[in-house]
Amino acid sequence: MVHLYDMTLLEMEDWFASLGEPKYRAKQVFDWLYQKRVTDISSMTNLSVALREKLKAVATVSRSTEVTRQVSKVDGTVKFLLQWDDGVTVETVLMRHDYGNSVCVSTQVGCKMGCTFCASTLGGMIRQMSAGEMVEQLIYSQRLLDEEGARASSVVLMGSGEPMDNFDATMKFIDIINHEDGLNIGQRHITISTVGLVPGIIRLADEGRPITLAVSLHAANDELRSSMMPVNKAYPIAKLMEACHYYHNKTKKRISFEYALVGKKNDSLDDARQLARLLRNLPCHVNLIPVNYVPERGYERTPKDQIQAFLDELTSLGVNATIRREMGHDISAACGQLRAEHAHRI
Ligand code: SAH
Repeated sequence: MVHLYDMTLLEMEDWFASLGEPKYRAKQVFDWLYQKRVTDISSMTNLSVALREKLKAVATVSRSTEVTRQVSKVDGTVKFLLQWDDGVTVETVLMRHDYGNSVCVSTQVGCKMGCTFCASTLGGMIRQMSAGEMVEQLIYSQRLLDEEGARASSVVLMGSGEPMDNFDATMKFIDIINHEDGLNIGQRHITISTVGLVPGIIRLADEGRPITLAVSLHAANDELRSSMMPVNKAYPIAKLMEACHYYHNKTKKRISFEYALVGKKNDSLDDARQLARLLRNLPCHVNLIPVNYVPERGYERTPKDQIQAFLDELTSLGVNATIRREMGHDISAACGQLRAEHAHRI
């Protein structure tokens, strides 16, 4: 079965040609998928009934079903747990900000990066998400927003999985949603978050796309970072920073660094000073994230006043930093938690 969300417009034109149909059908189908956002081929009423039947025999719009949906009473964040036809589940999250709606997409089912504070990696990596499966995640949120007359204006690849470990599908996903006949989401409004896979950062820099790069740093020295993020043994901080400078030089874009504050682990003022030293000379922004409590992980959170002191120290040393506002903390907050809870129930 062909997944219609898995094709770029060009690929769909070729596909129609291979079916003996004119190429302009692709644009018609794109319109149904991305402007009208129908859920099945039967609804594509400017295609003949015969063509619709022909397409239905070989292709499908939707491949997933919604297992659960949680809605935050605090800020309207919506977390969807979707199940695919082979039984795997992933989460996608719709967040509402004053600057617009953003959707957090998962790039893999599970994750193999093994970060010691993260829920997504608990059961290892099950499989990659295809580009179409990432598109479908986004479409769920957009359909909900349609009921409110609103649109998803930005996308963050910060769900489960490591996007740089699924590079080609991730780029194709971006091409599809960025296309003006697709969802027309500007590349500047798309953020890729990575554990710091250096070859992926270099490749992204060389592609010259104006995407925002977020790097999960979480520690400013190798000993500490390796104890939290096994990937640091393969790509230690010096190599990672070299790649970040390369990325900035190529794209002229400011890089975001994510720093999850874990109580008594990486949250001292000395840690803040090391971080400031590391980021000297690199135009960037630091997002401080109070660590989400994951029962299996047992890390404690940094107290509020210590978070503020850490921020003040960074700021006084000239680092551009903010504390990330927590979204939907009354629903299963951390990435991978809803999926893990579901797995425990079955
Ligand atoms: N693999 C990518 C993207 C997915 S995770 C990456 O690592 O960047 C998105 C962000 O959430 C990362 O910065 C990750 O380190 C962070 N994160 C994971 N578990 C967390 C937790 N329990 N609390 C706070 N942040 C967490």
